[in-house]
Amino acid sequence: MSFEYIREIPKPKEILGAMPLSQDLVEIKKKRDLDIKGVFTRESGKFLLVIGPCSAHDEDAVCDYISRLAKVQAEVKDTIIIIPRIYTNKPRTTGIGYKGMAHQPNPQEEPNIVEGLKAIRKMHIRALKESYLPAADEMLYPGNYPYLEDVLSYVAVGARSVENQAHRLTCSGLDIPVGMKNPTSGDREVTLNSIQASQAPHTFSYNRWEVKTAGNPLTHAVLRGAVDPHGVTVPNYHYEDLIWFAEAYKKRCLANPTIIVDTNHANSDKKFAEQPRIAMEVMQSRRHSALLKDMIRGFMIESFIEEGAQKVTENVYGKSITDPCLGWKDSEKLIRDLAGMV
Ligand code: PEP
Ligand code: MN
Repeated sequence: MSFEYIREIPKPKEILGAMPLSQDLVEIKKKRDLDIKGVFTRESGKFLLVIGPCSAHDEDAVCDYISRLAKVQAEVKDTIIIIPRIYTNKPRTTGIGYKGMAHQPNPQEEPNIVEGLKAIRKMHIRALKESYLPAADEMLYPGNYPYLEDVLSYVAVGARSVENQAHRLTCSGLDIPVGMKNPTSGDREVTLNSIQASQAPHTFSYNRWEVKTAGNPLTHAVLRGAVDPHGVTVPNYHYEDLIWFAEAYKKRCLANPTIIVDTNHANSDKKFAEQPRIAMEVMQSRRHSALLKDMIRGFMIESFIEEGAQKVTENVYGKSITDPCLGWKDSEKLIRDLAGMV
C-alpha cells in the first residue's frame, strides 16, 4: 500500500460546530425545501432551474453570480424556482485536472482536503446568506455529505457515479431531491435502476456506522446526453429520446417520476451557447406531449458571469475553469424567456 496518511480530517460535528448555520437561514432553507419538494410531488406547477458554473472555484465570483440570480429569481418567482449550482467536487474523465474546491481551495495550489471542506462550507453559507437561495452540489464522495447536509437543497449524482451502490444507498437517506444523471454510455436502465435503488430503504455501512435509511421518494432522472463507443456525442433531449425515456420511467411505477434536462455536457457537446436553443426545443416538446409536460420539470444549465471557459492559470474573474458556461447576459435572458413559457 502506497498510502501516505497526510492529515486527519475533522468529523462533520467539529466543522459544523465551528461553522454553524444561523437560525434565520435554517428557516429559509426549510421553506425553500418545501417549495422545491412541491414540484416533485405535483403540488406545484413551477419549473426548476439548477443553474450555475460547472465548478465553483472562486467564492467571490460565485457569490456575485448568485446574488445576480437572486434578483432575477424575485422577478420570475411565480413560475420558476432557481437552485444555484455550487459544485465543489469535480469528477474527471481520466482522473486528471482540477478536482473541485473540496480538494483544492486554491485551484493553483496543492490539494488540502481539510481546508477544502471548510472552504466549501464557508462558501455555501455565504452564498445562502447573500441570496437566500439554498444551492445544489454534486455528491462525488458520499461520506462527505454530512459536511453540507444542513445547507444543500438539491444533490446531483454524476454520470460517472450513478451506477455506484454507495451513492445510491446514501441518497436513499436524504430528504431533499437527488438527480440521478444518465451514465456517460446513455444507458436508460442504469438511470432508472439508480432511482429505484435510492427510493428503497436500506441498511448499510456509512462513515464507520451501520445505518438504516427510509428511502428517498424525491430521487429522479437528469438527462445529460451520452457518448457512443466511437466517442461520438449522442444527445438525449430530442422529442423521441424524451418520450422513449418517459415511457420506460412510467412503467417502473416509481415515486414522483420527474425528468430534469441538462442542457450542456453531452447534450450540447459542451457548445455552451447551444443551451438556450436546447431549452427552447424541450419546452416545445413539453407543449406537444402531456406525458412530457408532466414529467419534465426543470433544466440543469451551466452558466457563469463570463461565457466560455479558461485554463486554471488564466485568472479571469467569473469564468469557468472546467466546462464552458453560458455568460450572464444570455443566462438572464434565458431565465426570463423560460418564465414566460411555463
Ligand atoms: C457536471 O454537472 O458538471 C458534470 C460533471 O456532469 P456529468 O456527471 O453529467 O458529466
Ligand atoms: Mn460540467
